[in-house]
Amino acid sequence: MSGRFRVPEPVNEPIRGYAPGSGERASLEARIDAMTKERVEAPCVIDGRDVTTGDTFVAKVPHRHDLELADVHAAGREQVQAAIDAALAARHDWSRMPFEHRCSVFLRAADLLAGSWRDTLNAATILNQSKSVQQAEIDAACELIDFLRFNVAFAQQVYEQQPASVAGEWNRTDHRPLEGFVLAVTPFNFTAIAGNLPTAPALMGNTVVWKPSEKQALSAHWLMRLFQAAGLPDGVINLVHGDGAQAVDVATNSPHLAGLHFTGSANVLSGLFRMVGERIDTFRAFPRIVGESGGKDFVVAHPSALIDPLVVALGRGAFEYQGQKCSAASRAYLPRSVWEQVRDPLADLAGSLTMGDVGDDLSTFMGAVIDGNAWRKHRDAIDEARAQGVEVLVGGTPDGTDGWFVPPTVLVSDDPRSRTMTEELFGPILTVHVYDDGAWDDVLTEVDAGAPYALTGAVFSQDLDAIAQATDTLRDAAGNFYVNDKPTGSIVGRQPFGGARRSGTNDKAGSVLNLQRWVSPRVIKETWAAPIDHRYPHQG
Ligand code: NAD
Repeated sequence: MSGRFRVPEPVNEPIRGYAPGSGERASLEARIDAMTKERVEAPCVIDGRDVTTGDTFVAKVPHRHDLELADVHAAGREQVQAAIDAALAARHDWSRMPFEHRCSVFLRAADLLAGSWRDTLNAATILNQSKSVQQAEIDAACELIDFLRFNVAFAQQVYEQQPASVAGEWNRTDHRPLEGFVLAVTPFNFTAIAGNLPTAPALMGNTVVWKPSEKQALSAHWLMRLFQAAGLPDGVINLVHGDGAQAVDVATNSPHLAGLHFTGSANVLSGLFRMVGERIDTFRAFPRIVGESGGKDFVVAHPSALIDPLVVALGRGAFEYQGQKCSAASRAYLPRSVWEQVRDPLADLAGSLTMGDVGDDLSTFMGAVIDGNAWRKHRDAIDEARAQGVEVLVGGTPDGTDGWFVPPTVLVSDDPRSRTMTEELFGPILTVHVYDDGAWDDVLTEVDAGAPYALTGAVFSQDLDAIAQATDTLRDAAGNFYVNDKPTGSIVGRQPFGGARRSGTNDKAGSVLNLQRWVSPRVIKETWAAPIDHRYPHQG
């Protein structure tokens, strides 16, 4: 084949509205209905083959204790090792597969997902992760389609990076995949992230062992089926369900671990760094670690802030997907004059949000939190705050009878260092700290120092000087910073995503920076007129 191929120009996938009475709504409802009735077997997939282990766990529905979706086959150490072996065996052919053919697998997956597979991935995400239809659509459909299409264009940008050459020589960069295999370990809260973490390294010619979250196993199952339907060759991505610690232990025992692509909580990421560090002399090469972790994301308002956009940003930013976004607004710093105007509308908004069975009624705004552990954590944090005299403005009454429901909760804390102002709770709990209007400088210092994370944050102000000051003072406090907008909802290609400090390595998923991490460049210098005399001029 000869020709310099240009990949298709990516555009963001349009978000479907699923309005009542629409055909798209009826189609999705039918798929949800079928999925609630079909209890599936979700095997590991190793070297393209389904592997059942008999050691099963159940894929659950957070908003319905009475419904079980799948029997998921957990990998033992033996299956994780088999997945590593399959990845290593597939590496030779896949790493040499021409770029256009690697692209076509993932572009086809994007097209399938945009079409006939959309309902399946949305339905699985609605049921297994308790997302509203809007939240499932922007995640399992649109964001993943965007990752797949934009990554192809970003990969092309990586390959286009070439060094200078002068007369008599030609320098070329061969952007090789890493030598070994990549382990992808993914979180429950975004089907798109579960899809992106194994596919991004694979696009660059790597082969992958993928360990999805146990709490997202049904969506992961359908993602793997989508990749297979798109023509992914056997062994390029190997799916192992089950225990994360075990998968990491087996993977870090292999000298061939070349990279770790992780998204999840900060403590687990610390553990992965520790594990790789302890075994560092056993690897053939220093493994790449790309890890995106938690957030304690802020909204800070200046006295000049407009009220209505601020109320909506707090409501959507804190409560969409039950606050289970790494970017969710969970601490707000509002001047007293603004708080007096925000307080009632915010309480009204939070109180008006519908919560319930997101699969049964697609008009529902919120589902349940992911599991009993999360629910108990939220309940205990609210109870503890209440016992410490923190005001519960709205919500604060979790109910675990039918599902793991935690209502939108707004706390008002005098202490900016109270637990709910500083710790990532990962639930629909927003804590507001009210400051004196004259204390703008001090509050910015507090926002910067108040939490160990630095993922997202937002400033609301109509005063340009105040915006400039916040942008400067909070420079290290957020990897994604918003001016007069909510701190959630980043879009691939438009707001590359990631944070620093305890929020991760900030390798910006959905950008060229992430893909750059999955190659190890080799520079080739070819000389046409090599010297034939070893002496330099100064030698006379
Ligand atoms: P988690 O850390 O509990 O789990 C993530 C993955 O790690 C899962 O596959 C899990 O099985 C595995 N795991 C758990 N314990 C492990 C261990 N000891 N060793 C190895 N692997 C282990 O996270 P979660 O609850 O699934 O996801 C929520 C977290 O992810 C939040 O902290 C959230 O902020 C973060 N997150 C961050 C981003 C981002 O881009 N920065 C995006 C989404 C989620």
